[in-house]
Amino acid sequence: MIFADATSPYHEAKFVIAGVPYEDKEMSFRKGTSKAPDYIRELSYNYESYDIFTGVDLTLAFMHDAGNFSIEDAKKFVENAIKDGKVPIIIGGAHSITPHIVPYNEIDGVVILDAHADFRDEYLGDKNSHACATRRIFEKVGMDGVISIGIRSMSKEEKEEAEKLGFRYYTARQFSLELVDEIKYERVYLSIDMDVFDPCYASGVSNPEPFGLGYEVFDFIEKIAPNVVAMDIVETSPPYDDGKTGLLAAKILTNFVAWKSFI
Ligand code: MN
Ligand code: MN
Repeated sequence: MIFADATSPYHEAKFVIAGVPYEDKEMSFRKGTSKAPDYIRELSYNYESYDIFTGVDLTLAFMHDAGNFSIEDAKKFVENAIKDGKVPIIIGGAHSITPHIVPYNEIDGVVILDAHADFRDEYLGDKNSHACATRRIFEKVGMDGVISIGIRSMSKEEKEEAEKLGFRYYTARQFSLELVDEIKYERVYLSIDMDVFDPCYASGVSNPEPFGLGYEVFDFIEKIAPNVVAMDIVETSPPYDDGKTGLLAAKILTNFVAWKSFI
């Protein structure tokens, strides 16, 4: 099954979607993120093709769905898509995929929406854990190359190291749309961990964390979309979802496409 309205062939597409059904073996509180790409595709058929806010008709937005890939192939897919002048959108999978698929040579910075800092050096002995995703990116791009927004959970050690190393983050309580103005990146990789939302909007995630964000994420995406060259949507856990999280993930994808097309 392809994502709704993603019927363009690759060579004609502006937006190219790929799933990465990968999850860590032992590390999440809840399992199931590997089922998310197909689950989110299925739920995408709930929506109208027409977006009332932008007037964009998604059947004319030139979306292509390339299917599911391994992490290694997704990395190549993202790089090639950007070289071909397209906007790749990756559906995870666990957050552990992100450090591997960010096209570091094609961007100025990474913006992460997440309840968690994911700044552990290792988690249960694994440096590739979802709990280390931002740390791995930080090591590649440095303190000026990554910013996390929506944080409301860290271990004591994580917080101390984040402060010592100069990792830039804003908590959920500090969220404002003006943050977009502080992000000076011309070319952004946007990573959305679905647990940035409050569990009342998205409880079907690996590690739910109360007092999160809501509608403001959509305003944020509207504002940052012009600068986004690639994005991912990760951490939906279908076995724990009542439908809301998957529907929200699909909506984020289509809203992003609508705003990006509207420019
Ligand atoms: Mn995360
Ligand atoms: Mn998270």
